[in-house]
Amino acid sequence: MVRFFLVLVALVVLVALVGPPVLGWSPVGYALWWATNTTPPEVALRGPEGVVRGPVDVQVIVPDPDLVDVVQATVNDTPIPPGMVLHLDTQALPDGEQRVRVVVRDHSLHRNTASAETTLQTDNTPPALRLELQPAAPTEGHTLVLRIYTDQDADLSGDVDGRPLAIQPGSAFRWAVVGFSPDTPERTVHISLSASDPVGNIAKLAQTYDLVRTEYPSEHLDLPADLEPLLDPQVRADEDARLAEIYQKISGPARWEGTFLQPAPGEVTTIFGISRTYNAHTYVVRHGGVDFAAYIGDDVHAANNAVVVFAGKLQVHGNTLILDHGAGVYSTYAHLSDILVQPGDEVKKGDVVAHVGGTGLSTGPHLHWELWVAGANVDPLEWTQRDIP
Ligand SMILES: [Zn+2]
Repeated sequence: MVRFFLVLVALVVLVALVGPPVLGWSPVGYALWWATNTTPPEVALRGPEGVVRGPVDVQVIVPDPDLVDVVQATVNDTPIPPGMVLHLDTQALPDGEQRVRVVVRDHSLHRNTASAETTLQTDNTPPALRLELQPAAPTEGHTLVLRIYTDQDADLSGDVDGRPLAIQPGSAFRWAVVGFSPDTPERTVHISLSASDPVGNIAKLAQTYDLVRTEYPSEHLDLPADLEPLLDPQVRADEDARLAEIYQKISGPARWEGTFLQPAPGEVTTIFGISRTYNAHTYVVRHGGVDFAAYIGDDVHAANNAVVVFAGKLQVHGNTLILDHGAGVYSTYAHLSDILVQPGDEVKKGDVVAHVGGTGLSTGPHLHWELWVAGANVDPLEWTQRDIP
């Protein structure tokens, strides 16, 4: 007993001489702690809050890191390299709750140990992302509806041929509409989508389609000499460029409800897409809308809820009204006699917004009605038949 006591005293003196590994301890104080401490070290674990993904660090929190070692670390009872910072690759773990545990041991003679545990919630699975097209393939002169399905809340973005999609909210699916003008030079359509969940897991989808061609009939029109100046291709090109600026804009969410109304009751006299030549000219002009038979002064109705974005006189289109239905969809009413609304006005489906005329490049009274989707000129009639999206 005396001998043991002497050995202990000798060790205390030795520890005191070697000195404490920690600033703020006196050599004697440290030596006494070393010899007598039987209190397990305090320890806690601090990991990131909430659901996490990828590589994650968990800190081992002790009052004095110089007095303890982390001697064991486990995740779900599987050992990982111990240390004051635990590096976890959560991608190697199944999603869900992970139990992280450490054992620490102090440097005292008694080698007191303590353990701490914490849990992490991990998710490394990207959202399931599915695209449904209506119709099944992009088609020249027609609208394409993209319905986008995910299995969880996710930020969506995407583009068609590099043009960003204006993705609209929805309950069962989110959606966007795009169009393909007749004579679209590019024959291959690239659709890409990306879905990012709240943690940052990203799913990507890229698909390529052949644009389905549409054959349109052609006709020749002989126009009276007084309309000849309007046949100057530059006049039409300038007007088209001015209007394209309007149709390129995506002003906000979809305003329309249900199918579009036919804006004038008369029969269709000229279908969308027909290619025309005029008088002695050889160049071909694509008919960008549908013509309805009507009399001067007949009511023109808003095809759906919208905001008026243009009401004015154009050379080829004559007196023209353009309605913005949101989500990149515009309807255009041309050759009007007069217009009853102004830019900025909100109109409801069915409101009388103008009267039929024969202004601009027109041989007689009729309503010329166009539809534009994401900058593309498409057949408007399908919007009167299909409930989009
Ligand atoms: Zn027309």
